[in-house]
Amino acid sequence: MADYSTSRERMVRRQIAARGVRSENVLDAMRKVPRERFLPKGQGVWAYEDAPQPIGDGQTISQPYIVAYMTEALDLEGGEKVLEIGTGCGYAAAVLAEIAADVYTMERIEGLATIASTVLDELGYDNVHVRQGDGTLGWPEEASFDAIVVTAGGPDVPGTLKHQLKIGGRLVIPVGKSSWYQQLVRVTRVAESEFETEDLVPVRFVPLIGEEGWDS
Ligand code: SAH
Repeated sequence: MADYSTSRERMVRRQIAARGVRSENVLDAMRKVPRERFLPKGQGVWAYEDAPQPIGDGQTISQPYIVAYMTEALDLEGGEKVLEIGTGCGYAAAVLAEIAADVYTMERIEGLATIASTVLDELGYDNVHVRQGDGTLGWPEEASFDAIVVTAGGPDVPGTLKHQLKIGGRLVIPVGKSSWYQQLVRVTRVAESEFETEDLVPVRFVPLIGEEGWDS
C-alpha cells in the first residue's frame, strides 16, 4: 500500500497550519488520520489535495482545511462527548475521535453510513458510533453533548440540536438561504435558554436534508 505520510505532513503544514489553524490537538489529529482510507477505492491519490472530493451518492468529503477549521471552532480540549451530523465517509468523525472521548455521528444515506462504519472499525476507532437517520433531530438518547458539528448546510440552525447542547456547549453549522452557499456559525449555549451566535467564515456544503433542514 502507498505511504502517504509525507503528503499528510505537507497537507498539515501548507494547507492547515499556514492558514492559521493553531490548536495543537487539531494539528496532531490531522497528522494521524489516514485520509486516503476514507476515499472510494482507487481515489486515494487525491486524498491530500487542497479540495473536497466526491465520495459517491452526490456527496463529498470536505476539504482538509475546512475539517481542521471546524474542529478548531469546537474548542475541544480532550475527553468530550461530540455529535456530528453528516458522517459522509467518516473522515471528520475520525479527526474528532482523535481528540474527543466519544463521537456520535449520523448520516441520512444508509450506504454511506455502512461504508463509514466499516472503515472506522478497520482503523480501530471504537469510540465512534455511527447511526443512519435524520441528524437534524439529533441523537436524543445520547444527549447532551459538549459539542455538535454539522457538515451539511441548513436554512436555519435546528432548534433541536441547540437543545441537545450542554450548558457551555458549542454547535458549529453552515447556515444559508441558498442550499449550496452558507455562512459557518457557532452557537454557544450560555444558559438553559440563552444562546450566543457568532459568524465565522463563508463556506460551501452539500444541503442538510431533513425535518429541520431542507426538503428532499
Ligand atoms: N463529515 C464528512 C462530510 C460529509 S458531506 C467528511 O468528513 O468529509 C455531508 C453529509 O451530510 C452527506 O453525506 C449527506 O448525506 C449528509 N446529510 C445531509 N443531511 C443530513 C441529515 N439530515 N442527517 C444526517 N446526514 C445528513
